[in-house]
Amino acid sequence: MDEILGQVLRNAVWERLDVLSELANRADAPSLLSVARSELPRLTEGWRTLLAAHDTDDKGNCIECSSRWRPRSAPCSVWRSAYEHLVAGALAPRPARHQRPAHELRPAAPVP
Ligand SMILES: [Zn+2]
Repeated sequence: MDEILGQVLRNAVWERLDVLSELANRADAPSLLSVARSELPRLTEGWRTLLAAHDTDDKGNCIECSSRWRPRSAPCSVWRSAYEHLVAGALAPRPARHQRPAHELRPAAPVP
């Protein structure tokens, strides 16, 4: 993947995350319910696909992160990140957006 395509891909993903964050913060209840029903299954399926790709081989290394010459022991950074965001983060709710320091906030894209 060339550099420009990679940047387009990254920007599209960041923008999608911004839209979802904006919806979570500002959408009315019926809209939020509709978004949750359509987006949560997509997000959970995406996590499942990503985590399956980073499964552990019979030597205890990540299949995706390891190369023939450079094994990476599991759990890799993807699995650690999943745990941090899906399990540990779920137990420690973040302060509301308006209560977080400005440096933690990314500018949000407008909701289409
Ligand atoms: Zn991995």
